[in-house]
Amino acid sequence: MKLVYSDRYDLNLGNHVFPSIKYRLVKEKLLHDGLFSAEDFVEPPPASDDDIALVHHREYLRKLQTGKLSYLEVLRLEVPYSPELVRAMWLCTGGSILAGRLALKDGAGVNVGGGFHHAFPDHGEGFCVLNDFSVAIRRLQKEGTIERAMTVDCDVHQGNGTAAIFGGDHTVYTLSIHQENNYPYPKPPSSLDLNMADGVGDEEYLEELAKGLDKALAEFTPDLIYYIAGADPYRDDQLGGLKLSLEGLERRDRLVFEKAHARNIPVAVTLAGGYARQLEDTVQIHATTARVAREFAK
Ligand SMILES: [Zn+2]
Repeated sequence: MKLVYSDRYDLNLGNHVFPSIKYRLVKEKLLHDGLFSAEDFVEPPPASDDDIALVHHREYLRKLQTGKLSYLEVLRLEVPYSPELVRAMWLCTGGSILAGRLALKDGAGVNVGGGFHHAFPDHGEGFCVLNDFSVAIRRLQKEGTIERAMTVDCDVHQGNGTAAIFGGDHTVYTLSIHQENNYPYPKPPSSLDLNMADGVGDEEYLEELAKGLDKALAEFTPDLIYYIAGADPYRDDQLGGLKLSLEGLERRDRLVFEKAHARNIPVAVTLAGGYARQLEDTVQIHATTARVAREFAK
């Protein structure tokens, strides 16, 4: 199984609560632990403007590329604007397209980046500029590689951008399991929203996720699943209020892959959020997801 990664995924955020250095640290950990070798990593091409325009408004792309976002638009992103940020977003969107292609070939594919589920067609918010995996779904649909896709969003925050993008589209099923009492407000409805109360831990979370996946996969058969594997349901996360353990998060990963694998559905992973007090916990959670993904690859 290949891992999609670029050194230029780093969002150039400096000392920000979003540790965008994590992408490089996840790669280094996977190499250091002997789980993957350097040849397992593939560098993505950036997505084209035409691909991104399958989801996002051209005017928004122009403002991003020319540095013309308004003060309020940058404020809403909650990350500092820079040309490096824009370049990283185009690149990791290309990475999510590639991860989808690799998943269709190998059963599983991992983008060591992406998962920017708060990005809407006409604006970004909550650290998310482009909704990379939604662009990937539209791209793969357009070329006829897939017809139907599902997003399984396990980031602690609801996937509002994704829900807005695919609302009313019967070719894409959106599942989001998240802390109800947390950003974003409002939460546009996903196909299935699993709203967790504050402080929910491993057992309740995994039971609800298992039931939700069974329900979603009984109602809808996708050609491909994008798994948004946020690390922030972790109990020591600074921006999350759920109480999953490291072991619980690994069981979560395995549950998503098992349910998909049992139905022969390929899974492409994107990383999404992760704000653990100890950065190495966030890195470990993401690295574990990559390890679990490979167990289910052909
Ligand atoms: Zn999050």
